[in-house]
Amino acid sequence: MKYYSTNKNSERVSFKEATIKGQAPDKGLYFPEMIPQVDKSLIDGIEELSNEEIAFRVIKPYVDNEITDDDLFKIVSETVNFSIPLVKVSDNIFSLELFYGPTLAFKDVGARFMSRCLGYFIGRDAESGLTDNSKVTVLVATSGDTGGAVANGFYDVPGVDVIILYPSGKVSPVQEKQLTTLGKNIHALEIEGNFDDCQQMVKQAFVDEDIDQKLFLTSANSINVARWLPQQFYYFFAYKQWAEKNHPPVISVPSGNFGNVCAGILAKQSGLPVRHFIAACNVNDTVTEYLKTEIFQAQTAVPTLSNAMDVGNPSNFIRILEIFHHQFPDLAKNLSSYSISDEETIATIKEVYEQTKYTLDPHGAVGYLSLKRFLQTHPGRKGIFLETAHPVKFPDAVENATGKKIEPPFSISSIMKLEKKSIKMNASYESFKNFLLD
Ligand SMILES: *Cc1c(COP(=O)(O)O)cnc(C)c1O
Repeated sequence: MKYYSTNKNSERVSFKEATIKGQAPDKGLYFPEMIPQVDKSLIDGIEELSNEEIAFRVIKPYVDNEITDDDLFKIVSETVNFSIPLVKVSDNIFSLELFYGPTLAFKDVGARFMSRCLGYFIGRDAESGLTDNSKVTVLVATSGDTGGAVANGFYDVPGVDVIILYPSGKVSPVQEKQLTTLGKNIHALEIEGNFDDCQQMVKQAFVDEDIDQKLFLTSANSINVARWLPQQFYYFFAYKQWAEKNHPPVISVPSGNFGNVCAGILAKQSGLPVRHFIAACNVNDTVTEYLKTEIFQAQTAVPTLSNAMDVGNPSNFIRILEIFHHQFPDLAKNLSSYSISDEETIATIKEVYEQTKYTLDPHGAVGYLSLKRFLQTHPGRKGIFLETAHPVKFPDAVENATGKKIEPPFSISSIMKLEKKSIKMNASYESFKNFLLD
């Protein structure tokens, strides 16, 4: 399998090169040259298969022979070694709970897979003496959950330094602790700006020749294929647990940078039965508007309660266009989108808690309400929303809405006692560049 750049001005590369490089030299995103079809036996016999086997069979054609089967099986086993249950919330709505990983959000899946692939590739190159790049610097901009998941996934991986940029005051206390307390090879930069500023600084560093001469940079944002592709796994796990196999679910995905929903659509295009996708957005509604008007107008991100989705220019959307060969009617047939305000988010958390005792986090609430709206106009269908983070990561909003205290899991109460270590920086590229060259 080769990967081309969505800007079409860079050479095709292998999975290994795409993982190490992150972004293509022409600033495009890598995309597989073909979408492999899963074996019919995988779908028909899915209830009989372990999650490890499903994950291995889904990812194998994308990785090709760049990792041996034994090592790949080990990597996917470590990637999905926590439970991902499908929980009934009401008669026609189910929650896919993606928050049982070490940082309590779905990004653990992509981060764990990518860190292990990168560790594998670097380790093998160092052994064989193929490159003298014995050290790789991973740059990552985060609007909330990416930083913690990447920090955790890469913690203490030999040969890898991680630099995380996050917007000061715009991530929750738990999120901030998860990315600033590990130490060792993990460095947190607290940027006085918003997520788009952080993302812009990272993008610029990748095309800076002065930096290129000194450091070997790669990205751990969802643009990296090794983070993006494994996100297909849990759409298959959801179908495995779906009772009515002849009536595939509508799936609603709380969306920010659009890597997650794009992975779901990819899974569908490769043969997974899914009726329809919903991109559930907060008031950062670039894509909701695009589906109405066919005009893609990037915006400045607005801060909301579902902060991991505060993205005004979603970088992975180009991959969704690529899947549908830039044909708007095909895209619109497969994807709907809703934009949900903070007031509606709070009201949804409250209402669902009162009616069902199910506790939503703000991201899941956006997913739930979007799904509910869709089902109201499409009677008879049933659906799944992805519960992308544990409610304890957003205690203020959730406890205000439900009036009930959330019991933090042990991993959270212990991390809250650790001391935050970050480097404050203004949102200027010059400061960031000086820091990197230092
Ligand atoms: C990152 C994140 C999202 C958005 O996912 P994208 O792949 O960027 O669209 C949604 N919810 C939570 C909790 C997240 O951390």
